[in-house]
Amino acid sequence: MVATPILPLEAPSPAHICPFDQACSYLDQAARELKLDAGIIDILSNPTKVITVSVPIRRDNGELQVLAGHRVQHSDILGPCKGGTRYHPAVTLREVSALAMLMTWKCALMGIPYGGAKGGIAIDPKRYSVTELERITRRYTSELIKDIGPSVDIPAPDMGTSAREMAWMMDTYSMNVGHAVPGVVTGKPLSIGGSLGREMATGRGVMIIVRSALADLGKSLEGIRIAIQGFGNVGGAAALLMHAAGAKIIAVSTSYGGIFAEDGLDIPALKAYADNNRRSIVGFSGAEPISNAELLTLPCDVLVPAALENQITKDNVHQIKAHIIAEAANGPVTLEASEVLEAKGVIVLPDILANAGGVVVSYLEWVQGLSYLFWDEERVNQEMEQLMVRAYHQVIAKSRERGISLRLAAYTLGVGRVAQALKDRGLYP
Ligand code: GLU
Repeated sequence: MVATPILPLEAPSPAHICPFDQACSYLDQAARELKLDAGIIDILSNPTKVITVSVPIRRDNGELQVLAGHRVQHSDILGPCKGGTRYHPAVTLREVSALAMLMTWKCALMGIPYGGAKGGIAIDPKRYSVTELERITRRYTSELIKDIGPSVDIPAPDMGTSAREMAWMMDTYSMNVGHAVPGVVTGKPLSIGGSLGREMATGRGVMIIVRSALADLGKSLEGIRIAIQGFGNVGGAAALLMHAAGAKIIAVSTSYGGIFAEDGLDIPALKAYADNNRRSIVGFSGAEPISNAELLTLPCDVLVPAALENQITKDNVHQIKAHIIAEAANGPVTLEASEVLEAKGVIVLPDILANAGGVVVSYLEWVQGLSYLFWDEERVNQEMEQLMVRAYHQVIAKSRERGISLRLAAYTLGVGRVAQALKDRGLYP
């Protein structure tokens, strides 16, 4: 039995690695491991709700433009749907559906009471003014008003969005329902109920998972050579925290290009440089320029792809020299490439484990909001670390017990918990 989604998704171009097909392949592998019934696989491979709304906006020059806004709710079996909102030119309904499914397994793996969702609009936010982005976000939110809410579906930041967009979403939702509803989104600014530690959370989670994997090899982060693709919210935070823990960050890249320094980069200085250069790191003194493709194949201990999906594929996998790969982005290593790496003994720390820090602190933000009690940053980081480390050990144990890859172990745990909840809840009516 293979996952057979009934979704009316647009067909992928043949040359393209379809993220939704990949997500279904992971589900199939986990389902085989769990010996799930065909009917259960059918339910789990189809999202509960697929929403596409029209988002008409007026550009600053007076022109009208109509955008397509997506929100896919993959599952609400374990709790409200949860997941980010992505603004990126490559967004498609297929990609959003795949990412929504990954959120379901990620939340289940972390043991937090959510289902999975994802939203997205295919725009390059760099090409829109702040006021245009505000109009886009507000119109998109109001089109989704009946489908989101603190116990229904809770958006958060993702690629191309941040606390700023979450504040607009929260305000639009609140104005529509007539009272302030901070719990409708997470990753909000602190002023409206955001959590301390949320901004760095995904990067911190990556650091915790890499540190745990190194500890299992009898090592610490001290002196470890790390290359990071991406220097945004995830890659930048992971770089700062791993650098602070003594690692040598030898290369970093963004969509503008990358830099390399044999003895390690001064990450706090690089962060300040990027903040002053519209996030470009090219031209940073004391470093050589390198391309994104070169960064991926550098000899290093740990490679952290923290940008887009499908970065390590069958085409470049044989050149990869890292011993550990931490998937800080969603799906940066394809299924085929993962199998090659695992056969070579490379440790691939899968996305639904390695990048779960963001949604874990989103959960802690939601819990603090619901209880009207706000914690200091130390408490947030401690609670998050506990959940991350627990999931890491569960994945390692499952992988050893079954003799399967870390990725399959993580999916087996996530999918297994959702399937069990589905069986226990039964089918309505
Ligand atoms: N966008 C992040 C992710 O992919 C965070 C989602 C959230 O906090 O709900 O995990």
